[in-house]
Amino acid sequence: MPSELSPVLPDEIFKIIFEKSPGSLLVKADAPHFTIMAANEAYLNITNATREIIIGKGFFQVFPDDDDDPSDESGARKTFTKVVQTGLKIDIPTYRYDTRDPETGDYKIRYWSCSNVPFNGPDGKVAYILNTIAEITGEVNAKEAAIESENRLRLAAEATGFATFDWDFKDEVRLCSPQLAELFGHPADSRLSSVDVFQKQVLPEDQQVIADAYQEAKKSGIYAYDVRVVWPDNSIHWLSIKGKLVIDERQKPIRMLGTVIDVTEIKRDEIRKNDFIAMASHELKTPLTSIKSYIQILSKKLASDNDAFINNVLSKANNQVNKMTDLIHGFLDLSKLESGKLQLKPELFDINKLIEDCISELLQSTYSHIVIFNNPGNLNVTGDREKLGQVIGNFLSNAVKYSAKETKIIVKCTINDGYVVVSVTDEGVGIKLKDQKKVFYRFYRVDNEKIKNVSGFGIGLYLSTEIIQCHKGKVWVESTEGVGSTFYFSIPA
Ligand code: ADP
Repeated sequence: MPSELSPVLPDEIFKIIFEKSPGSLLVKADAPHFTIMAANEAYLNITNATREIIIGKGFFQVFPDDDDDPSDESGARKTFTKVVQTGLKIDIPTYRYDTRDPETGDYKIRYWSCSNVPFNGPDGKVAYILNTIAEITGEVNAKEAAIESENRLRLAAEATGFATFDWDFKDEVRLCSPQLAELFGHPADSRLSSVDVFQKQVLPEDQQVIADAYQEAKKSGIYAYDVRVVWPDNSIHWLSIKGKLVIDERQKPIRMLGTVIDVTEIKRDEIRKNDFIAMASHELKTPLTSIKSYIQILSKKLASDNDAFINNVLSKANNQVNKMTDLIHGFLDLSKLESGKLQLKPELFDINKLIEDCISELLQSTYSHIVIFNNPGNLNVTGDREKLGQVIGNFLSNAVKYSAKETKIIVKCTINDGYVVVSVTDEGVGIKLKDQKKVFYRFYRVDNEKIKNVSGFGIGLYLSTEIIQCHKGKVWVESTEGVGSTFYFSIPA
């Protein structure tokens, strides 16, 4: 039979526990004195006191309660009094009590957490209070530093016009800075900080953009999109949202946080610029077409004269006009793309024949390079023949532009994993790794001494990428600086 445990803790064990606990003090419940009966070593160390000085003295004689705020309930006197009155344990999770450095005499800011446990005497009334304290200065400072840095970040975001939001899916906590309401046309102090309310203001035709960005974010963790929102006064504003989607180990999205900024002015500028490019290109196209026809008429008229010089000059003029026409078509395509008007005309055609046609067209004006294409035979694909021809033409003309005369350009067309892969390899200047992604950006041109005199606007590869993406394919490059590059595109076979 196990011996029955005594409900009363033996004095010896109590003493050990008392001595080993973080910082313990036993006071008598003889309000208003609260005479100190015992203090452990840790308590003496914390308070820089000695037993001789404090034992037998009233608690407030030794540790004056400097709390003169009547509303503050955490002061020691109020706490002790309440413990005696209620007979219940009272915890004070955080309070400040500064201690004096015995060497320098300076006071040091310190934070504590304490618990006050009542012990009843034989009459059933509270006879003693065990006051246990633990220092939490480190934790409090860390928390304050975190709050301060968060505030600083928020202020910086506000100063630059950004609104911030943080949406915890698990706990359904949705935090937004007041600027978010303003970006949706509401007063900053309006309590509208719900993501759903804002989402309803997004134009119906832009709702899909949000859904697509979310799907993308589920893969990459990053989401970024621009949408139009309707303000309560019916004006339309562009907002740019950028953020992070936090995904847990089971691939479940758990939190979304980021920034929102009004980009209406930037968008308007962009629209104005696109309109200008479209208008200028359109205006240039007409006289250029006339010049081209005049050159053709002249060529025909003078062909019989057999004047080599004139024929040569006319052929060069024709080439230059062709180059200009290509550039202008590029700009027209760019503006069509930006305004969402670039449309595909899909048809079934032999892509290898298209490659041959593109090479023949190139060779009409380029005699400087050796272009190799071993046509593997008929390969039918569905796509916009003219647009895909534009992509192949862009790869070919780049291969010529960015490599030395007499070097080889190898064109291949293969089938890989259900995709038709077309590649154009040159032995040219190559592209540094850091530029390999950027060459596909709009207006990006590599800053390289060797090609600084090569003309171009940096839109060919951007357009090619967009055209291939419309075909559900992708574009990429493999390159070694000084050795050469291979540009690829793939489309579903
Ligand atoms: P453009 O040639 O008119 O500048 P592109 O969009 O076709 O515009 O190309 C973007 C940039 O990529 C070029 O300016 C060039 O720096 C680089 N580039 C493209 N093709 C090649 C290539 N085959 N070899 C080396 N660099 C290339």
